[in-house]
Amino acid sequence: MKNIIFIAPPAAGKGTQSEWLKDKFNYEHISTGDLLRQAIAEGSELGKQVEDVIAGGNLVSDDIMIALLKDTLTKLPTDKPFILDGFPRTIKQAEALNELLNEINVTDLVAIYLNIDEEEAMRRALGRVSCPNCKKGYNIYYEAMKPKVEDICDECGSKLDRRSDDNEESFKHRFETYIENSTPVINFYQEKNLLKEVKVDRESIEIFEDIVKLLSEE
Ligand code: AMP
Repeated sequence: MKNIIFIAPPAAGKGTQSEWLKDKFNYEHISTGDLLRQAIAEGSELGKQVEDVIAGGNLVSDDIMIALLKDTLTKLPTDKPFILDGFPRTIKQAEALNELLNEINVTDLVAIYLNIDEEEAMRRALGRVSCPNCKKGYNIYYEAMKPKVEDICDECGSKLDRRSDDNEESFKHRFETYIENSTPVINFYQEKNLLKEVKVDRESIEIFEDIVKLLSEE
């Protein structure tokens, strides 16, 4: 199976797609946002360094992110394909990733660009809740994605949580930051002939089917 890099604005659904791909094809899912949130929850040195940056909707520095990714990628099992969800977000990260993948001989790669407009992404972000215990995600603005009982996880009964950066102000800032930084990243993968664009303004399951199809293309 091809290794996947997701390029997408906040709340485009890369987390949901990654989870489904992981279940179907046994991918290793690396979400840099999840790694950072975990560091914050643990109160580690890294967590303390990034907590305010994330809450304000800003990007964590390239140096921190590249070191974190290097550490994570080099510890991965070599017999499983991986999904990178949330990295690279800047051209400097894309170049560092390229170098690292060459070093560890990873060649089978596709960059999937989930294209969504700001209004739709904002609606998704503001409706997003998830289970702090089993990590299942929900969206209160979409009938098919609502929990059965308000605020309670269908799977394990825990009380659902909202991400601290999923508020309107932080979201707008994150979206602007994404637009500013993502164009050179998209061009980088386009020039390498690795970019595939998937439109996201439809049901998650249709998006998933398209992704599965493009994974089998040469
Ligand atoms: P996400 O869960 O992917 O939306 O990431 C949440 C937050 O973590 C982002 O808004 C950034 O503050 C930070 N973050 C995650 N990945 C990166 C990255 N590759 N570069 C810089 N900051 C990142």
